[in-house]
Amino acid sequence: MRILITGAAGFLGSHLCDRFLAEGHEVVGMDNLLTGKIENIAHLAGHENFTFIKYNVTSYIYIDGPLDAVLHFASPASPIDYLTYPIQTLKVGSLGTHNALGVALAKQARFLLASTSEIYGDPLVHPQTEDYAGNVDTIGPRGVYDEAKRFAEALTMAYHRAHGVETRIVRIFNTYGPRMRLDDGRVVPNFVGQALRGEPLTVYGDGSQTRSFCYAHDLIEGIYRLLLSDFNEPVNIGNPNEISILEFAQLINTLTDNPGGIVFQEASRIKGDPQTRQPDITRARTLLGWEPTIDLTTGLHHTIRYFQERV
Ligand code: UDP
Repeated sequence: MRILITGAAGFLGSHLCDRFLAEGHEVVGMDNLLTGKIENIAHLAGHENFTFIKYNVTSYIYIDGPLDAVLHFASPASPIDYLTYPIQTLKVGSLGTHNALGVALAKQARFLLASTSEIYGDPLVHPQTEDYAGNVDTIGPRGVYDEAKRFAEALTMAYHRAHGVETRIVRIFNTYGPRMRLDDGRVVPNFVGQALRGEPLTVYGDGSQTRSFCYAHDLIEGIYRLLLSDFNEPVNIGNPNEISILEFAQLINTLTDNPGGIVFQEASRIKGDPQTRQPDITRARTLLGWEPTIDLTTGLHHTIRYFQERV
């Protein structure tokens, strides 16, 4: 296959490039490097099956030659990033998705949208199944990301229904691993960075809010299988192993022998912070035969090693 990956220099985009190249496919990577890092794909420079185009996908996309698949992963994705770039986030989720779907239609390529558990907002159903419509505050600080991705899902289904494009939608839950940006503000790089510097970990609120963390390689396997499947409706991919943020902080302090402890910071700085999040992955298990294989401690060991060289 010849595949276009938008957001190719990002955390997940770069792992996808590696995976598709490893399977012998040809990859065209596109990224405007707003939140992506060229270092994430530096090792691919000169690879005979890889091309990189620095480009903002909110403008019309032109690609020479055939394409078999378009994977749309471009977007700021951490709360800090999408609060810093609210308009760019809305544009890449709306105009960017439109352009990426347009390329897929023109090339008769399969299209896969990177959607998110954020489309469920602060969920009132637990764990979250794909048929749950969500509880999103349209004008809250997270609205720029949540609504952009909700629009992107609607547009993707519209292209499927109106134009017959073969589309896939993955709803990605919290994922961690090497190539996250140390300063992206998310809980994994924040906590691991603080721990490796011997500082206290900053728990927002009382730490009772929960998340379920999936190691990047597990997630990539799920996405790979979804692309090759024939299922058009959204599929949750994530690890159902749920943990409170306070317990998560304690685990990271233990794994890093951090003497710094924990400090609690005001919850108000993260207005709209979902209280719980856990994927129901029955659909992924049934349709794709997929489930996560890497436990949290093992995944965190790999991640800590990666950050140790960068702190
Ligand atoms: N969080 C925290 N301390 C930090 C960073 C994040 O307590 O230094 C919390 C945050 O309030 C949220 C959870 O960790 O409840 C996950 O936050 P993240 O930014 O990783 O992503 P989210 O899942 O909220 O999109």
